[in-house]
Amino acid sequence: MSLRFATVAGRASLLLDDALIDVARAADGRFSADPMAALAAWDAFADWARGRSAADATGPRSPVDLGPPVPRPPKVFAIGMNYADHAREAKLEIPRSPVVFTKFPNCISGPFADVELYSDRVDWEVELVVVIGRRGRRIAEGAALAHVAGYMVGQDISDRRMQFADKPPQFSMGKSLDGYGPTGPALVALDSFADPNDLGLTCAVAGERMQSGRTRDMIFPVATLVAYLSKWCTLEPGDLIFTGTPAGVGSTRDPRRYLAVGDEIVSTIEGIGTMRNRCVAAGGE
Ligand code: ZN
Repeated sequence: MSLRFATVAGRASLLLDDALIDVARAADGRFSADPMAALAAWDAFADWARGRSAADATGPRSPVDLGPPVPRPPKVFAIGMNYADHAREAKLEIPRSPVVFTKFPNCISGPFADVELYSDRVDWEVELVVVIGRRGRRIAEGAALAHVAGYMVGQDISDRRMQFADKPPQFSMGKSLDGYGPTGPALVALDSFADPNDLGLTCAVAGERMQSGRTRDMIFPVATLVAYLSKWCTLEPGDLIFTGTPAGVGSTRDPRRYLAVGDEIVSTIEGIGTMRNRCVAAGGE
């Protein structure tokens, strides 16, 4: 079966068309309820998961409480300017090597989590998110996709006021506010896609289509990014790579447009699914 891994009420789960499989209950102790434990033994886990069927279902598919499929990633890389149309709208040159920054793991949230607006210049960026499933360093580009557990939809939510408060800009802080990394709704294995290198991705805000692109237009495709990052950093199971956003973010529109309280951000990637994140006023504490 097509491998769709999710976190349901905090527990590792497999999603079927109209049912779900609670991993710990179905695996007789072989795998725990912790989603990170499945990532840590991903190759063995994926073999087991592909052997499951509707006969293993432990509950209905909906309604379910979906959290981030990878709740505690060891590292979260993000890539800037990885689509030519986005580099153009930002009036920046096409990079000759990947532009890498960090999203700290505190930003990771689920596919239906609220986004707290910390300022009046918070922006959207729909992105394909790569999940590493196999440890490696100095990974060859030709072997890179074998190190990928699967793909998720992601939002690289960005507080432009914080990011551009001074020079040089602070990408990592402006994009790491609590909850500024919604991911989900599932981690989908690459063999589920007809072509994992060509997926349509879209973002709508308050009902208006803002972004529409295809992952085949990445300047540095997924295999290149995995090989590049692993030159310097050992990649570990559960590491995430936000792979960059296509054109149509709010800060480069004319007039500029930012997220407002009550807006719903709807982010979709072909073959993976849809996230819906509502913008709310920043709370206390
Ligand atoms: Zn981004």
